[in-house]
Amino acid sequence: MRHYHVIENAVGEHEGYRDEMFRSRRRALTAAKTRAEWLSAVAGLRVESLVGMGRYFITTGRPGDAGRLISVEDCDEADDGGHVRLPVGGQKPPG
Ligand SMILES: [Zn+2]
Repeated sequence: MRHYHVIENAVGEHEGYRDEMFRSRRRALTAAKTRAEWLSAVAGLRVESLVGMGRYFITTGRPGDAGRLISVEDCDEADDGGHVRLPVGGQKPPG
C-alpha cells in the first residue's frame, strides 16, 4: 500500500535519524511542516523551504553547521516491516 515517510536527518550523518510513516500525503506534509516550525521555534533555527513540496532545510546559519533535512518521501513498499523505524518519542504509525 502506498504511504509516505517523513524523514529527518542531519546532513552528512546518520545519527539522529527519524522516520515517521503516514497513510496520507497531506498528513505527512503537515507533519513535516509542523516539525520544521517546531525546531525553528524551540531551537531558534532558520527554516528554508526547498524546491518541491514537503522539503525543509534547517540550519543555525553558523559556519560549520551542516544543517538538517526534513523531507516527505513516497513509498510503495508492500511489506513495511523491514524499513520503518519508529521515531524516538514519536507516535506509532496508524495501522
Ligand atoms: Zn515505506
